[in-house]
Amino acid sequence: MGVVAEVVRIVFLGPPGSGKGTQAALLADECGMPAISTGDMLRGAVTEGSDLGSRVEGVMASGDLVSDDLMAEVVGDRLAQADADNGFLLDGYPRTASQAETLAGILEAGSQTLDHVVFIDVPEETLVARALSRNRADDKEEVVRERLRVYREKTQPLVEYYRGLGLLREIDGDRRIGEVETSIRLALEGSD
Ligand code: AMP
Repeated sequence: MGVVAEVVRIVFLGPPGSGKGTQAALLADECGMPAISTGDMLRGAVTEGSDLGSRVEGVMASGDLVSDDLMAEVVGDRLAQADADNGFLLDGYPRTASQAETLAGILEAGSQTLDHVVFIDVPEETLVARALSRNRADDKEEVVRERLRVYREKTQPLVEYYRGLGLLREIDGDRRIGEVETSIRLALEGSD
């Protein structure tokens, strides 16, 4: 596919449970680029019991967002690693207007550009059902609803922001994994 041969920087945007992590990992495998999931990084820090982990554990358990300042450090460090030089797929960042500005600043400082924002949308009731069936510690129904509320309030406005920049590739995520994957490939090829 078109995106394999070039340097491509992609943000995956969508509500919690939309499957964006799965899709980012699938595409990353195919492109040979790193899928950078801030949720996975933070969960890893909690499991390790690192300083970062102890700072974010409570916030994550409540369904709220880690502070923009702390996330700027986490993402700035990660994108500075060599494997991100030739492109990346970002899953779970940015999640606020301030984070979108931070990302734009990081890219600008490296004379880099963002190529696509893949927005995977799924109806709320499907999201709740999916999250509860995953049965993770942070997937209790009240936490799931809180994460969705936070998403609507803080993250959803980024859809219009990136649409305005001409970067938004909108995908119906309420389908099987393979179908969603195919749609993403077509959307990326069609907007080269
Ligand atoms: P995720 O696996 O992407 O849904 O992330 C799990 C949790 O990690 C979120 O509910 C937040 O508490 C935290 N988190 C992950 N990414 C971010 C981010 N970009 N900004 C703030 N908090 C984040």
